[in-house]
Amino acid sequence: MNTDELLPCPFCGSNESNDVLRSEASRHFAASVTCFTCELTMKDFDEKVTEKWNTRTNRISETELIDELNETLESVRKNLIILQQMTEKLNNGNNT
Ligand SMILES: [Zn+2]
Repeated sequence: MNTDELLPCPFCGSNESNDVLRSEASRHFAASVTCFTCELTMKDFDEKVTEKWNTRTNRISETELIDELNETLESVRKNLIILQQMTEKLNNGNNT
């Protein structure tokens, strides 16, 4: 796996605006990835920062999350209707 390959920005999804900047800090190479579109910056040691950045990108997007929530909501609504119908039948059964 090529750790130098950066996935799109986890915040704004910008593809070309990030870069790995390295600077020597103490004994380690400190690195940072900055998105030039939304100015999100992640800092860590060298390759770790790329891994961190790319792992964050694995989160599902906002649109996908909304779609998933709508599906769940629709399923809950259907179950609620079934539950209401069952309750009505039970109540009717008790009344007669
Ligand atoms: Zn960004």
